[in-house]
Amino acid sequence: MSSAKQNKIGLVVHGGAGTMERGKMSAEREREYRAGIENALRPGWEILQHGGSALDATEAAVRAFEDNPLFNAGKGAVFNSAGVNEMDAAIMDGRTLRAGAVANLQHIKNPIALARLVMEKSPHIMMAGEGAEAFAKEHGMELVDGKYFFTQEHWDELQRDKEKEKSKAAPAGDKKFIVAPEEGHGTVGAVALDRNGNLAAATSTGGKSNKLSGRIGDSPIIGAGTYANNATCAVSGTGDGEFFIMATAAHDVSAMMEYRRKTLQEASIAVIDKIGKLGGAGGMIAIDKSGNISLPFNTSGMYRGYVDANGKFVTEIFK
Ligand code: ASP
Repeated sequence: MSSAKQNKIGLVVHGGAGTMERGKMSAEREREYRAGIENALRPGWEILQHGGSALDATEAAVRAFEDNPLFNAGKGAVFNSAGVNEMDAAIMDGRTLRAGAVANLQHIKNPIALARLVMEKSPHIMMAGEGAEAFAKEHGMELVDGKYFFTQEHWDELQRDKEKEKSKAAPAGDKKFIVAPEEGHGTVGAVALDRNGNLAAATSTGGKSNKLSGRIGDSPIIGAGTYANNATCAVSGTGDGEFFIMATAAHDVSAMMEYRRKTLQEASIAVIDKIGKLGGAGGMIAIDKSGNISLPFNTSGMYRGYVDANGKFVTEIFK
């Protein structure tokens, strides 16, 4: 072992925020979720420990979540109102401020991998729908049949959402319309700090159950649901996307640190409070260049995990 002091590394992940009550979740379900969070931490942490990049670590963590049907991203994506799974994702490199974002995907097994591809192989930052999928194919990425994303649980959730919708017609334009606060929110994300002092953030989601076809949330919008900047922090959000967009949430955390010298903790809590005041529910994970972490949320729970100072995986669900 070398005696040179190694720079601190850090990894934080989330699997969505929402109404999660301790008494209402079975012990078995809780174990499954905690195992899912650890499964996401493991590949990311491996990469960081071996000197790999924050970018690779966040992508690996998010991929693991995307392959797990318990979480609303990739395999476990929710259905839109037309009964189709439409997914969004983004990744950002805090060192260069380069980013890749994808939206309205229907046939990409790992949307985060396509976001990375857009960042690295296209002249653009954000691509959506058929064009994004054609770009994926051109670069050798396998497209999957839409059926891959079918889960009975989310199908049933859509039917319940449609029933609820009938019973409470919301005024047109009400941003709360598509939000079902009593349900768990989805979305997965990761933020990391690597040995070279680089930060990265990655987020992936199926969005909101029963969302209108074509709706895009905050997750793929750089500065709203995803942001990373080596000068300040890396952030990934989850919750009512419309409100995270209105608040330019992720960038606001960075801006408060940069311009007002707020700590990561102060800035991230202030942004979640602001979203709450606007009427939105959700949370975020954040890490700064010194490895400080913050995981604020204004819901009753958020699936979340991080690696502590002793290298131990910590997973939490409830407040
Ligand atoms: N933020 C995501 C979206 O609005 C959903 C969520 O995190 O629950 O698409």
